[in-house]
Amino acid sequence: MAVNHDPKCRQCRREGVKLFLKGSRCYTKKCAIERRPYAPGMHGQSDARRKVTEYATQLREKQKMKRYYRVLEKPFRNSLTEAIRRKGVTGENLLQLLELRFDSVLYRLNVAASRAQSRQLVSHRHFLINGKRVNIPSYILKVGDVIEIHEGSRKHPQILDSLRGVGRRTPEWLSFDAATLTGKVLAIPTRDQIDTPVEEQLIVEFYSR
Ligand code: SF4
Repeated sequence: MAVNHDPKCRQCRREGVKLFLKGSRCYTKKCAIERRPYAPGMHGQSDARRKVTEYATQLREKQKMKRYYRVLEKPFRNSLTEAIRRKGVTGENLLQLLELRFDSVLYRLNVAASRAQSRQLVSHRHFLINGKRVNIPSYILKVGDVIEIHEGSRKHPQILDSLRGVGRRTPEWLSFDAATLTGKVLAIPTRDQIDTPVEEQLIVEFYSR
């Protein structure tokens, strides 16, 4: 499974925002973007003074979104193609598709400290969707889908560790029962329910060039 192996904190510093790629560390004073709030590299501190073109702004926005959801170029483009095909605003459709990915939903349900961890939990077949084991992080969930931890995985150290997570708030479009460790997709998220710090319209414009 292909993943972005660039150092995580470096990715945040490049984009100039917290992408929350490292789980609980992102909420502490050890967060690199709080200690060094400028771009990485030798010219990182002087980058801020450089004139930024429209193309560069759109490109950075695209990279930011890909890094936030931890998807590579090809699956990202596939999501965009599907977003264009669907009715409605393309940028919002794209965000919804990324939010409804299996790995992203687990992260939002707070059963994983980061998207990287939720991706690993999915690949290791710890979760079921509607009673069936699914090990595809890019699987798109639908309204009404029920997510459960596999019976044999409930005491798995990796699961117990991830459940001791940061305690983020579960968004309104999802529900989670901590007693049974069961989650459900209640609705497709609207734009105002998605807190991803991107201007999705710039990304649509980037690919329309
Ligand atoms: Fe980004 Fe988290 Fe590293 Fe902070 S600690 S720079 S939010 S990955």
